[in-house]
Order: sequence, then C-alpha cells, then structure tokens
Amino acid sequence: MADVKSRRIVMLGAPGSGKGTQAARLAVEVGIPAISTGEMLRSAVAAGTELGQRVEAVMAAGELVSDDLMAELVRERLSAADAANGYLLDGYPRTAPQADVLDNILEDADAPLDHVIFLDVPEEELVQRALARQRADDTEEVIQERLRVYREKTEPLIGRYEAQGILRRVDGDRDIDAILEDLLALVR
Ligand code: ADP
Repeated sequence: MADVKSRRIVMLGAPGSGKGTQAARLAVEVGIPAISTGEMLRSAVAAGTELGQRVEAVMAAGELVSDDLMAELVRERLSAADAANGYLLDGYPRTAPQADVLDNILEDADAPLDHVIFLDVPEEELVQRALARQRADDTEEVIQERLRVYREKTEPLIGRYEAQGILRRVDGDRDIDAILEDLLALVR
C-alpha cells in the first residue's frame, strides 16, 4: 500500500472525465473506501428500493437528485465505520448547497478535507467519450443535458476549493495509468 497521510479526498470532474475509474483505483492504493453517490443511486434503482423508485426518472433525464435527499444519503454513508479513517468521495458534492452540507459534516467531525482533485478533460473529448460508450437510455440529448448541468452547478465548485487552497488539478486527457501515477504523487 502507498504511504499516504491524507485521507479525506473529493474527486471532481465532468461526466465522462473518468473520475469514477480513477477514484476506485486510487482508493484501493490509499486504503480508503471509494464512495460513489452515482453507484449508490444506481444500485438503489437496480434493487427497486423506495429510494431507487424516487430517483430513477431524474437520473435517466440527466438531472440531479435533490440536494436534501443527497444530504441524507451522504450523511449516513459517511458515518459508517469504514469511513472513519477517510474516504474518497466520487460524485459528491455536485452543487453549492451540497458543498455546504459536506462542510457541515466535516466540521461536526472536526476533520477537514485534504484534497479536492479536479480531473480536467476538454469538452470535445467528454462528448466523444460519452457518445462512444452510450448506454441504451443515453441519448445525445441526455448526454448534453448532463454536461449542461455539470457546467452550471458543479463547475463553480472548482473556484470554491481553489480559494480554500485544496484544489489539485490533474490533466485527465491522458493514459489511465499516467493519471493514476499523478494522483498518487499528489496524495502521498
Ligand atoms: P457520471 O456519469 O457523471 O460520472 P455518476 O455515476 O456520478 O455520473 O452519477 C449518475 C447520476 O446520479 C447523475 O447523473 C445524477 O442524476 C445522480 N447523482 C449522483 N450523484 C449526485 C449528487 N451528488 N447530486 C445529485 N444527483 C447525483
């Protein structure tokens, strides 16, 4: 395992930036759980739980699940025992109110974020990737809507974390292994 001191990490990036892939690998190297809100929601949908039924249509349209619902979900997940020594959050926060909620959770735990990693990928590349691995229900319209929502709601968080001095920008338009190496160097 890598010799890593920093343990609370947020992964920021557009849909198709590859942050899910990198988050999963980096978390294994660091020895902390990767917590993907997208995956949590998808498995709720697949299992047909009440939560799943509530979020299914919103997700399929490329829109965001409500901040209140996400706050409940994330608060509970971050209080689990396996998150006590850190975590890598993938897909949260996605809006300013969500970042406020996370700040509150961190304050309550007296445990600040160590890094917010922004995986930077040019817009044209994002669209290309999305079209190349289109899921059955992913029309180009939905892909464009996800990107629009990302630009409007999520991208502004970059400035917020930059101002806090914890933003780490990584070029995501490269080979998967080269990116992982950079990420490891950052958190070591
Ligand atoms: P991406 O394809 O952008 O990597 P994710 O797997 O992170 O997407 O999430 C899939 C979908 O789940 C999102 O498009 C959104 O509808 C919903 N979702 C995930 N995380 C959040 C969040 N923090 N707030 C609101 N909705 C979310």
